[in-house]
Amino acid sequence: MYDLSFPWVMRTASERSCGHRVINRSNAMKSAIYYGPRDIRIEEIERPKAGEHGIVVKTRAAAICGTDLHFYKTAWKGLPVDTIARGHENAGDVVEVGANIQDVRMGDRVWATDFLPCFECERCKKGEYDRCRNLKLGGQWGLHGGFAEYFWIPVVVLNRNVIKLPETMSYQEGTLIEPVGIGLGAVINADPKPDDVAVVLGTGMVGLGAVAKLKDSGVSKIMASEISDKRRQAAKEPGADVIINPA
Ligand SMILES: [Zn+2]
Ligand SMILES: [Zn+2]
Repeated sequence: MYDLSFPWVMRTASERSCGHRVINRSNAMKSAIYYGPRDIRIEEIERPKAGEHGIVVKTRAAAICGTDLHFYKTAWKGLPVDTIARGHENAGDVVEVGANIQDVRMGDRVWATDFLPCFECERCKKGEYDRCRNLKLGGQWGLHGGFAEYFWIPVVVLNRNVIKLPETMSYQEGTLIEPVGIGLGAVINADPKPDDVAVVLGTGMVGLGAVAKLKDSGVSKIMASEISDKRRQAAKEPGADVIINPA
């Protein structure tokens, strides 16, 4: 499929502890580095290079995921603090393209996240890429994400970790491809039938994606439960039939 021997850059403990000092200022970019709960610092770090199989994207929009909030508020699930720029819901312009890249060009407007399953473990072989045992994930585990002026996609797999935005889609809308896609994927996996009744708990972006896909699947009754007034209101548009406030 592609060369998995490409050296995936994971930060080592010593690199982390020596911080992100930029040696060459002509190649610096601003980046919001996560140091731990309620500790995000704007720092200059070295701008990434595309590498043979990758691209560099100039960030135009980067959404804040619920996961980012968890990490910001607490030491989430006791996971180790990784001093990286978070941000995995990113959209921007391709500004550098690796020599081996055929299907992405300079200037392409893209949604991109450096999400890369191994395609080899037993979960990948079942198509459960998001549960890959060797998953690499920018802005989450070991790699800088989109809360920076530029971000790097080390290995491009078109329509998996890089999607070209239609002309009619803004960068801000493009950032929602990931959370909405999770909702769509959940419904596709559930494989609902038209006479099913479906209940969606929570109508943030993931839940709204689920409601939209349930409607598209012709499910006869879609119920949504949500405590936020704004989100209950939002659930009407994609077609929730019954919307309740569980509070
Ligand atoms: Zn997310
Ligand atoms: Zn895998």
